[in-house]
Amino acid sequence: MRYVSTRGQAAPRDFESVLLAGLAEDGGLFVPETWPELGAAEWRAMRGLPYPVLAARILALFGAGAMPIEAMCRDAYAGFGHPAVAPLVQLDTRVFALELFHGPTLAFKDMALQLLGRMFDHVLAKRGERVTIVGATSGDTGSAAIEACRDRAAVDIVILHPENRTSEVQRRQMTTVLSPNVKNIAVRGDFDACQDLVKAMFNDAPFRAEMNLSAVNSINWARIAAQIPYYAAAALTLGAPDREVAVAVPTGNFGNVLAAWAARRMGLPIARFVVASNRNDILARFLAANDMSTRPVEPSLSPSMDIQVSSNFERLLFELLERDAEATAEAMRRFRAEGRMPVPDAAWRRATALFRGFALDDAGTIAEIARLHREAGYLADPHTAVGTAAARALAPEDAAIPVVVAATAHPAKFPDAVERATGLRPPLPARLSDLYEREERYGVLPNDLAAIEAAVRAHAHRNAA
Ligand SMILES: *Cc1c(COP(=O)(O)O)cnc(C)c1O
Repeated sequence: MRYVSTRGQAAPRDFESVLLAGLAEDGGLFVPETWPELGAAEWRAMRGLPYPVLAARILALFGAGAMPIEAMCRDAYAGFGHPAVAPLVQLDTRVFALELFHGPTLAFKDMALQLLGRMFDHVLAKRGERVTIVGATSGDTGSAAIEACRDRAAVDIVILHPENRTSEVQRRQMTTVLSPNVKNIAVRGDFDACQDLVKAMFNDAPFRAEMNLSAVNSINWARIAAQIPYYAAAALTLGAPDREVAVAVPTGNFGNVLAAWAARRMGLPIARFVVASNRNDILARFLAANDMSTRPVEPSLSPSMDIQVSSNFERLLFELLERDAEATAEAMRRFRAEGRMPVPDAAWRRATALFRGFALDDAGTIAEIARLHREAGYLADPHTAVGTAAARALAPEDAAIPVVVAATAHPAKFPDAVERATGLRPPLPARLSDLYEREERYGVLPNDLAAIEAAVRAHAHRNAA
């Protein structure tokens, strides 16, 4: 299995090299040169497999088979809080929640990142290399990256967060990880300052080379690949390949819904994709009226979807343009320059044949959390609730097929919204219930590049004589 760039100017690479590279050198995103496809009999034979085994079989089709992938999947998912890893919970006659939040940080990022940390470690050890992962977080994604990298032999990780601007749960999920290869820094500044510091470190070429800087951001192909198996598992459970299903996905960077589309591309009968957004509705506007134009990001109750530029959309665009890399590069260039993406009518029609947009504001989100609790006895976080509302809004022609909603965060991760809607404050699961008693460790530094770089260097060299 080889990978090519959506912008056509990068040399093809294998899975391991794509894993380490992240972004292609032409600025594009890596996609499989050809999509692996399975026939109905092959899918049927995968029904009932334990989740890690199913995941390993699917990842092997994408070129991960050169690694001991089944052992890595077993290890990655062993610590999850549910024996099924990603259980399917029925909410009404046809809507099912696919719970992706049983990992260490209670959000769906763990499904991919727990595996990615292990993949990084394996490939780096084989090559005799080390990397330093640096990242900025407004609170949510930092803990998933830290949990993925903690105790990995070939990886050091430094995460910057804005001092006093994350919730206490978010901070503690990061700062109570006391593994020696993990460093948290609270920056005296806001999230933008943290992001600018990370960008500046990547732009400092000598520093970047010295530290062998890397990132595990959501454009990494391996993250998408690791998200395909749970859609396959859900579809198989509901009767695929002999029965169609639809999916509704709370969407930010478009990675999760793209993985669902990839499962269809591999031969599973996923007939409809509902792209669920909050009031940051660029994707809904695109699907309704071919209007892909950016507007300022507005904060909402579902912060992981407060995004205007969905980086993984480029992978779908490449397919909609029938893999014309030059046209993809030009559309992305104009999107960056003008804030509006020109998508030819034929490509837009290909998108709308499969994808539906949906957008819900905060009041609607609260109402949906309350409704789910009242009618199904189910506590949903705000992201998941946007997804279930999207599932209910499916057009009548899709009303006969079951809908899988990606439940992307545990309700205890967003207790204020859930309490506002239901009067109940969801407790943290038992394995996290002592979070408020655990020891924290983090540094506090000014918004100053030299000070941050010195801290990263000291962290990466802490074992040197
Ligand atoms: C990251 C995240 C999303 C968005 O997923 P994308 O793959 O970026 O579309 C949705 N919900 C939660 C809780 C998340 O953490």
